[in-house]
This record gives sequence, C-alpha cells and structure tokens, in this order.
Amino acid sequence: MAEFSRTDVVARAETVVIKVGTNVLADSTGTLDRARIQSLTEQLVRSRSGGRRVVLVSSGAIGAGVGRMGLGKRPTDLPHLQACAAVGQCALMQAYQESLSPHGIHAAQILLTASDFDNRVRYLNARHTILTLFEYNCLPIINENDTVSVAEIKFGDNDHLAAMVANLLQAPLLILLTNVDGLHTGDPRQDANAKLVETVPHIDKSVTELAAATTSELGTGGMRSKLRAARIATAAGSAVIMANGSTDGILDAVFGGQTVGTLFLPHGEALSARRRWLAFTARPRGALRLDEGAHRAVESSGRSLLPVGVVEITGTFGKGEVVSICNREGVEFARGLTNYSSADAERIRGLATEQILRVVGKVPYVELVHRDNLAVIG
Ligand code: GLU
Repeated sequence: MAEFSRTDVVARAETVVIKVGTNVLADSTGTLDRARIQSLTEQLVRSRSGGRRVVLVSSGAIGAGVGRMGLGKRPTDLPHLQACAAVGQCALMQAYQESLSPHGIHAAQILLTASDFDNRVRYLNARHTILTLFEYNCLPIINENDTVSVAEIKFGDNDHLAAMVANLLQAPLLILLTNVDGLHTGDPRQDANAKLVETVPHIDKSVTELAAATTSELGTGGMRSKLRAARIATAAGSAVIMANGSTDGILDAVFGGQTVGTLFLPHGEALSARRRWLAFTARPRGALRLDEGAHRAVESSGRSLLPVGVVEITGTFGKGEVVSICNREGVEFARGLTNYSSADAERIRGLATEQILRVVGKVPYVELVHRDNLAVIG
C-alpha cells in the first residue's frame, strides 16, 4: 500500500466519509460560522462529481445549541449537553440545508447511537437508508443521537462515529477535518518546531505517542481520538486523511490529490462488511483468553477456536454474542461470535472434544468460535 499516491487514494475513493469537528464549524461561544459551512458545502458538492458518494459526519450540535441559547459556555452535565444538542442540531441542519439548496441537494439528517451499530439489524437498516439517500442524490449528514445516548453507551466523539460509518459503508476514504493541519511531531500550538507528518504507513506505538491529549472548549475530540478512529478505519482497509478544516479550499486540495494534512495508509486486506462489523463495530460482551497453541492456530493458521485452547473466560454472554479473543497476556487479537454462552463455555473450557462428550454428554458445536464467525484484528 505504501506506494499509493494521494491521487490514487482519492481516485479509488468512490465513497467518502467526511467528518467535520465543532471547532471548524463554530467559534468558542458556539456561534456557527456560516461562511465556513457555505464554503465546505460547496467543496463537498464539487467532490461528488463523477458520481462519488459522500457522507458528512458533522459535530457542532452541542456547540450550536450553546450559541443559539446564548449560554456562553458548554455545560458539563449530560442532561444539559443533551438539551443543547437538541436545540443545536436544528441550527446545524438548517445551516447545511441553506448552503445545499442552491445546488438542488437535500440534506438528510441521520442520528445514530452506539447501540444502533451494535445491533446488526439496525446497523443494516442504517446502511440501507444511506444507500437509498445516495440514490436520491441527497447528502446524508450524520451525528450522534446525543439526546438518547447516555455516558456508558456514547461514542463519545464523532471521530469514532465517523470511523464506524466508514466501516458501515466500506468507504475507501475517511477524511477527518479538524483545527490543526494534521498529525505533528509535537503540539503545534505549543512547539514551534513541531513538524507535520505527511504520511503514516501504520499506526503503531511511536505514532500514538505523538498525540498530545488535546481537547477543545466546545468539541470532545483531540488528537488521541482521531488516531483511535484512524486506527480502526485503516485496520479495516480504508485510507484516512486528517486535515485542517479551517484552511480555505481544504477539501478541493484533498480531492485534487495535493499533499495536505496527514495521510494514514490502509493496512492489511480490506475486510468484508460482515467482518468489519464483527471486528470493529459490535461491542464484545466478554473475553476468552487462549493458551499459546490456540493463539497461534487462530491468528496465524486460520483455524477455528476450540474449547481446549481457552484458559479463562470473563464477562457474561449468551450464545451468538460477540466476544474478544485474547492471547495469553490478555491482549485482544480477534473477535468472534460465540457458539456457547459464558456459563456453558465455562463447563467445557480446556476440554478436548471427547472429554466434552464425557462430561456434558453431548457436543452441540465442536468449535467455541467458528472460523466463519471470527475476525482477526490487524
Ligand atoms: N455529537 C456532538 C455534537 O454534535 C459532537 C461530539 C464531538 O465533538 O465529537 O455536538
């Protein structure tokens, strides 16, 4: 993949997810920057030429709510944040629709929660709706459904949501627009020598260490959350470009193949839609810790996971739910759908098939997790 040029990345991206952060769209009091929205929308419309399908993941609802209600600063507790989101989401969509109308394009609001991604039926419904909106030539604009998301099940930030949407659509390119030029070797706001990293072939520890724990007054993102999102998207086969949404003409530059921002190259095979869901979208309900032999068999030899290789089971899960599959040290390297509930799995853990037959009297499934229902996470 390393030989991919920017032009290749853009040319191959027939579907693109573009995420715009609160800082790009609103000032520190939450007032929406209409000129910025107008300009981004125009570029976005241009980027759809040649039939490219574009989805916007837009933050800014809470910020815009703060602005519209004249609160001066962002509240801190969940109910007030949710109330701001409810007010601000209208302002945000209104601003987008006004910018899109001269182009004859309808804005289509989609509000999603983490549990919509967890539940495969709702996940597929969201996918069908977005694909149908493409047919109608609408612009899907996605945000988290903040009014119903509670702390434990929140995406927390729209970077993560955008990576999930890229997964949902198997989009070859995710663009994260923020208020810095990209990933730097230091924090550019504090360190004048910090240099922009143009290309990241693989997000490893040395890369994540570059991310300062940045947060902003109105948004919840920061470099760490962007890297987490980029990691999910690149591991599932998408390229990611992180760039400064406050720079004039940024999307034109990205789609023109110019070297702006940081390009994170996809690594590994592009996963199938189902494996993407399994590996990165559904929330695991428990974990299986394996011995070394089973770890090797699953990770390197493409085998199913048998009960005999499991040394520890944590969490409570039912048959058919998603579980984390971890090495001896407890580090997750795969996810899969379990054939046994946690209680049943505990009874057969560490046993070979003939022993299971003796102990339990029957062996409904030889595999604890069948290979077809398993995704190794790169
Ligand atoms: N859903 C939040 C909003 O629209 C944004 C979360 C974030 O800042 O990433 O305000």
